[in-house]
Amino acid sequence: MTQIVHDQHTDVASRQAEGRPHGLIDVRNIGIVAHIDAGKTTTSERILFYSGKLHKIGEVHHGTAIMDWMEQEKERGITITSAATTCFWHNFQINIIDTPGHVDFTVEVERSLRVLDGAVGVFCGVAGVQPQSETVWRQARKYKVPCIAFINKMDRKGAEYDRVIENIREKLKVDAIAIQMPVGSEEDFNSVVDLITMKHITFDEASQGEKVTVFDIPAELREEAEVRRSAMVEAIAEKDEALLDVFLEDSDVDEASLKAAIRRLTISNEMVAVLCGTSLRNKGVQPLMDAITDFLPSPLDVPTLTGVSPKTGDKVDRDVSDHAPFSGLAFKVVNDSFSGKLTFVRVYSGVLKKGQNVLNPHTKKRERVGRLLRLHANSREDVEILYTGEIGGIVGFKNVTTGDTLCAEQEPVELLRIEFPEPVISMSIEPKTQGDRDSLKDVLKILSEEDPTFRVTVNEDTGQTIVHGMGELHLEILKDRMLREYKVQANAGRPMVAYKESLAAQGSAQEVFDREIAGKKQFAQVSMKIEPLPRGSGNEIALKVSKNILAGAFRAAVESGIKDGLVTGVLGNYPMVDVRVTVTDAEVNSEESTDTAFHTASVLCFREAAKKAEPILLEPIMKLEIITPEEHMGDVLGDLNGRRGKVQDMESEDGNQIIISIVPLSELFGYATSLRSLTRGRSSYTMEPVQFEPVPAAKQQEILSY
Ligand code: GDP
Ligand code: MG
Repeated sequence: MTQIVHDQHTDVASRQAEGRPHGLIDVRNIGIVAHIDAGKTTTSERILFYSGKLHKIGEVHHGTAIMDWMEQEKERGITITSAATTCFWHNFQINIIDTPGHVDFTVEVERSLRVLDGAVGVFCGVAGVQPQSETVWRQARKYKVPCIAFINKMDRKGAEYDRVIENIREKLKVDAIAIQMPVGSEEDFNSVVDLITMKHITFDEASQGEKVTVFDIPAELREEAEVRRSAMVEAIAEKDEALLDVFLEDSDVDEASLKAAIRRLTISNEMVAVLCGTSLRNKGVQPLMDAITDFLPSPLDVPTLTGVSPKTGDKVDRDVSDHAPFSGLAFKVVNDSFSGKLTFVRVYSGVLKKGQNVLNPHTKKRERVGRLLRLHANSREDVEILYTGEIGGIVGFKNVTTGDTLCAEQEPVELLRIEFPEPVISMSIEPKTQGDRDSLKDVLKILSEEDPTFRVTVNEDTGQTIVHGMGELHLEILKDRMLREYKVQANAGRPMVAYKESLAAQGSAQEVFDREIAGKKQFAQVSMKIEPLPRGSGNEIALKVSKNILAGAFRAAVESGIKDGLVTGVLGNYPMVDVRVTVTDAEVNSEESTDTAFHTASVLCFREAAKKAEPILLEPIMKLEIITPEEHMGDVLGDLNGRRGKVQDMESEDGNQIIISIVPLSELFGYATSLRSLTRGRSSYTMEPVQFEPVPAAKQQEILSY
């Protein structure tokens, strides 16, 4: 057997030997993260255009941008769903995972960050770092995703390159280092100087920027370019020893050493290289594409991958190589009229072939790869095989939910699951007509498979179907999709806060179930202790009864009884979280005990114990970020106060105040309208769920009696 060495060049050679498509050498899985309106969609469109995949540039403001392929996205002018799109640039395959900018969809951001290897932060040359880009960047740092920055909209009045770089350094706490210099400013911005090669790069307007011409730097720009280059080289040499050695030898460092150093520092998250341009005016995009391939990591830059054996729970290491057993992550499931259920998968190790069977360790089911697709912006290409690091779509999977691992049947592994936040809002939903009843059920199932932050439950008391999600807009869009894509008409109730229950103390109980049902005696006895755990721990169930006393089906019945009890809580039918339930004792009667008896006894025992343990209500708390003109600040703060808001931070910027506060979601319904009237439409805000906290006692009474 040949030994597999983790050397990119070995893999390049083997890939070429295997005749990979398009002479493929290497893959870049990237995301473009930005504040809404910074130009993410426009920049993505240009990348696709220059890579030859689009024949015509679509413009966002005309509603024709292809990346925004969902109807609602076009109408609302925002990007919601992350579509993975493949294009080729020189010998590289670039997979762009489109990340949304709206906070109601943080889950989309999280899941894309999980599968991409690097990111491009797009910033507006005028506005700089806006609140939402901060949120997304924070998430990118959490996953240690290497980034480069593109300062877009350099053509706009008020665009200032150096100020935005300073802004990135301060607000995002990263070492942003300019590797380009803009030429001309505002509407006269026309080209860039590449500080690594010291060349002047220009973009031909007649061919929509497609023709790029490289010149020597004109005399009048020379001095500024020299100064900026020295600053760049020194900043890099300070962080990278290899470059420092080169620099000490000759202060005029060579291009290859510089590029290698920038690549190392980018991948180790020690620097963010900064470029600039204007996507709308077709300037600066090709150098950005070069920077993506030069500096952002390849999937092979992580030589081993760690997962867990689904059988033993032990740690499993897997080579990141075409030759290793297959493993991948289903990071998105969509249903569309075109191909039915489509599962987006990233291959982490090995290869995935059409017709092959794979295991889903979560469901323990085998799934067959019916068709394999590579997804371009506006077309789908059938392929036979996906290699390590590639992203593609699979048609034919049945029971796969977003976040599931897929792996070789003989060598199972479970990769780290994507963590999804808990829904914070719910509303009842019912079919408009009898004819919609069945289809509504189906559609809700499909939508919840696609989106793990969208959940469906049935209220046992009223029989109502309840949907749960991350915000008013989230649920509204899903309702919209039901009608548009599935032609299902539904009436929705008022959106309500999705409360949870927990405990403030300990409690214990014993339950003896001894009844005659249908002429047969039924017996079970259980004892439990229940106690609170720290916020966010989830629930734990511990069966501290020996298997000699409680075994097999009875044991399982006790566990399922507790789980059922947890789902509905004891105060107001809300799920109970962050508690530990310990079963301390049980008694079986060999003649009369049944599963049903144990199940029922456990539910009752759980309820009894929980009621003694000071049950409390938890409510979702949002982080609210408001931007308002100074003159309205007093009104906005006063209003926040009335909403139980706690201000955490205030900052003034160009005559505006940014107010960051923490406010219970229940106080924020209809906030958009209030804020508009308070500030005559001159303010804006964003919000995102941060945690669940106990509801004040008086408020709890009010909610429960309602
Ligand atoms: P996204 O929300 O980040 O996806 O941003 P879009 O790509 O949708 O762009 C938002 C708006 O900014 C649109 O009206 C674009 O036409 C405009 N825009 C994008 N790039 C530029 C640019 O380089 N210069 C100028 N002046 N406008 C731009
Ligand atoms: Mg967009």
